[in-house]
Amino acid sequence: MGRTHALSGAVLWLAAAPLLAREQWWGSHALSLSTGQVIAGAVVAAGAGLLPDMDHPSGRIAGTLGPISRQFCRWVSRLSGGHRHATHSLLFAFAMGYAMSMLAIHFRYGWWAALFILVGFGLRGLGLDFEGHEFWSGLKDCVTAAGAVWAMHDLDMGFAGYPVAIGCLAHLLGDCLTPRGCLLLWPVPWRMETVLVPRTDGRVERLVVVPLLACAGVVLTVQVLSGGALYHWVR
Ligand SMILES: [Zn+2]
Repeated sequence: MGRTHALSGAVLWLAAAPLLAREQWWGSHALSLSTGQVIAGAVVAAGAGLLPDMDHPSGRIAGTLGPISRQFCRWVSRLSGGHRHATHSLLFAFAMGYAMSMLAIHFRYGWWAALFILVGFGLRGLGLDFEGHEFWSGLKDCVTAAGAVWAMHDLDMGFAGYPVAIGCLAHLLGDCLTPRGCLLLWPVPWRMETVLVPRTDGRVERLVVVPLLACAGVVLTVQVLSGGALYHWVR
């Protein structure tokens, strides 16, 4: 489901950004972001869309940094109680959002490292690999992630907590629509699932969900880049 998670994170952020900018609703807490910041937020949210699956040592994102990330995911899995436990909860989404915004505001280098990993996760999730060439695919993802960090190094990303939390929430929403669901209210052991997508990486996901999300992503990105008719409409 990597592709679905990355795309849904970006789409949910691009849809939510204009709402988070509404002063009538949020007063002085309303976000005021440039086009560059909204697009950077979409990149962050796409990566954050994969974050909850850090609890899956044999999953796709565990291979992002080879044995290092695999070992890290093994630890996360052990600490969080296994796949689709603590990291698949609202608490995790908000905690990650808070932690990332603290990094972005107070510890620049830490934020760049986190951003590198987030973008790496997003690229890994999208899975635009060179078929059968794991090493070159990994290298390509690392170079692209480093490029993204470079491109964003000057941007004020103090708002990063929003796209991170939204990316995680998109992931939870997606997993809740598949069998096994999520423990959204962890530590309360109440598994929530409404099975609309009967099989992960099945036909429904590949032929319906991914194309729809990709189209929504393109439309929303064009809206942002064109100065945003949508933005004016909701304000
Ligand atoms: Zn998951």
